[in-house]
Amino acid sequence: MRTDLLAGAGVGLAAYLIFTGGVDRVAPLLLLAALGAAVAAAGHARGTPPGLGAAAPGRRPSTSITFDDIGGQDTAKRELREALDFVIQRQAAARLGIRPLRGILLTGPPGTGKTLLARAAATYTGSAFLSASGGEFIEVYAGVGAQRVRTLFQRARQAARETPSRSAVLFIDELEVIGGRRGRQVSHLEYDQTLNQLLVEMDGIDRHPEQVVVIGATNRVDLLDEALLRPGRFDRVVRVDLPDRRGRREILELHLRGRPLAPDVDIDALARDTYGFSGAHLEAVVNEAAILAWRQGRSRIEACHLAEAVEKVLLGERADRRPSDDERRRVAYHEAGHALISEMLQPGSVASVTIVSRGAALGYVRQRPQDDVWLQTRRQLENDARVALAGYAAERLVFGEASTAAGDDLRRVAEIVERIIAAGLSRLGPVDSERAPVDAVQQVRAEITAALLEDVEAALARHRPALDRLAQRLFEQETLSGEEARRELGHLEPPAPQPPAPAGHTAAGQAAAATRPDPEGWQRPGGEWPAS
Ligand code: ATP
Repeated sequence: MRTDLLAGAGVGLAAYLIFTGGVDRVAPLLLLAALGAAVAAAGHARGTPPGLGAAAPGRRPSTSITFDDIGGQDTAKRELREALDFVIQRQAAARLGIRPLRGILLTGPPGTGKTLLARAAATYTGSAFLSASGGEFIEVYAGVGAQRVRTLFQRARQAARETPSRSAVLFIDELEVIGGRRGRQVSHLEYDQTLNQLLVEMDGIDRHPEQVVVIGATNRVDLLDEALLRPGRFDRVVRVDLPDRRGRREILELHLRGRPLAPDVDIDALARDTYGFSGAHLEAVVNEAAILAWRQGRSRIEACHLAEAVEKVLLGERADRRPSDDERRRVAYHEAGHALISEMLQPGSVASVTIVSRGAALGYVRQRPQDDVWLQTRRQLENDARVALAGYAAERLVFGEASTAAGDDLRRVAEIVERIIAAGLSRLGPVDSERAPVDAVQQVRAEITAALLEDVEAALARHRPALDRLAQRLFEQETLSGEEARRELGHLEPPAPQPPAPAGHTAAGQAAAATRPDPEGWQRPGGEWPAS
């Protein structure tokens, strides 16, 4: 029976008793009943399953998101639509004996629109939408998670019954929390029981007349128990990647739609400058820009607000700390070194350079990627390493020794050198660097790094006047646009021709890892050279 009917009956009974004078005798009873009703109503509102003390997952947010509200992700949208067509044309699919779709797994970095896609899937199929997050199932008490999974599927079927299509989309975010490999967790019994229950529910989906499609999302598909990926469970895996330039443009357009924009806003340029950003980053850029415009009392969002917002989203809020003049001079040379080498190797590549502290960085150079790249040659990888080494080399050239500002840069150089070796682009050829003799690999690492550093030091020494000019200007003005930096640098003699890289060798095998942020680096868009 529904809680509101119970409440109505209670009020009616109370009125009758007061009217007939019987209230004294039943007052304690009424009080108890009222308390019980309040507890039941609160439990109902929080979704507490019977006998459990905590809220059960399974929120049902209103959803009117469509696939048109999601920028980029064309492949993911197409694959998802194809899979969902079985749900819409259930009868026709059944005639051909096609097994009903039970689960779709969306995998990819955070903030790329997996939740949006699940909500759009519900709209597309005219289904009810329920969502829960893996973390909500896990309690220290064994059996609680499994009970929650059961309750969630019951609710999904209930919600499906209320729709004309008799279907529901059940979205489970952070699936790896409950779907991790069994036997791995510390309190493994609880985790295993929860996962087992999820498997049981998914296997039993076809036994009910309502159609429930489970859409799971995870950033760590590698952690999932194989049983979940078995045919008949999450047998459709859809990758939701970081958007490419066209995708970023579409996402920016969606979020800028309806906002007042100044004529100097160039969405194309913004899409180019936001390489490595997820949809959530781009949404944050637009929001931050609007806040900046509002704080400055402007009626429109201008290009400068968007540029400032990109830096803020990339590196965090401007920090209050004010380094000493000596430190600022060192940071100015460090950043000028990065900018000089970047411009020398690829003219027009610097988007901005600053010695204003943001987040943990004391200054940084933001590079403008010419376009999304999917593979890199040895020369390109080496050029990236040269730019990374340039801050360290500039400090050594000018002050005689480097500082801790170069720590992150050197880690990046080490990563690049590792990639060169692993892709078979070093003089060792195609080796498995894990199994090759440690000494040989170590020697090649040292050789490559030393040669790159030598190049960079020579180039900086050759261009010392330009380095001094840029560092001085940075020290005075703190932030320079790419154009301003290029004016200070003037013409930079290109480097002497380098010997060609081994024919036909690129890091193609590692293309994605080479240029897109890797799983650990997903949170942080690339392309900047901070001195921290
Ligand atoms: P997580 O893995 O962290 O749960 P997610 O992949 O589910 O993230 P969403 O929650 O769908 O990401 O996206 C967060 C926000 O980012 C959205 O509400 C939206 O504002 C914005 N966003 C992300 N991707 C897109 C996109 N492709 N188009 C438009 N907006 C997007």
